[in-house]
Amino acid sequence: MELLKNKIRQEGTVLNNSVLKVDSFLNHQIDPVLMFQMGEEFAHRFQDAGATKILTIESSGIAVALATGFKMGLPVVFARKKKSVLMNEAAYTAKVFSFTKKESSEITVLKKFLAAGEKILIIDDFLASGEAALGLTEIVRQAGSTVAGIGIVIEKSFQAGAAKLQAANYHLESLVRIGSFENGQVLFL
Ligand code: 5GP
Repeated sequence: MELLKNKIRQEGTVLNNSVLKVDSFLNHQIDPVLMFQMGEEFAHRFQDAGATKILTIESSGIAVALATGFKMGLPVVFARKKKSVLMNEAAYTAKVFSFTKKESSEITVLKKFLAAGEKILIIDDFLASGEAALGLTEIVRQAGSTVAGIGIVIEKSFQAGAAKLQAANYHLESLVRIGSFENGQVLFL
């Protein structure tokens, strides 16, 4: 998606040649126009996937998942990363190691929001080692539903996640794919 590439070229910052900071439009401040353009692009790419619901993970996946759900006319559920007293109901959980926070956490979705037999479109902001996406597929499996596809805003193709998801035969669509970072520059595939 050329528009997103340009936004990354203009506003992205590369940290330690492994992490891309895009907090001006995706991870802290949010660009609503871009979000809805990305939602439209995901809706187009997954139009034949038969999805019945969208699943993402808080917090940065929510905006783009909402835009996709709006375009596709589907409800959006987000997995929570922290337990709260309000989560006192039956839930699905999966362990996820955070690439940016370097810690393990348990992600949770209340059972009442994920019924059996659904076709779930998973959406997230970044794909690095694949932990977050695989944690979400695990929750879909526990619910007795199937994965309709996995949509990622920014795939870092030089990390293991994309290969893992493709090896597991998931329909993966990434809006941009990064081959490497070199001297603070983003090299797209
Ligand atoms: P994974 O679970 O695939 O290793 O990493 C995906 C998650 O880690 C995403 O949900 C995102 O929050 C975070 N992440 C991974 N790599 C980056 C990155 O380069 N930049 C930012 N901003 N977040 C990242």
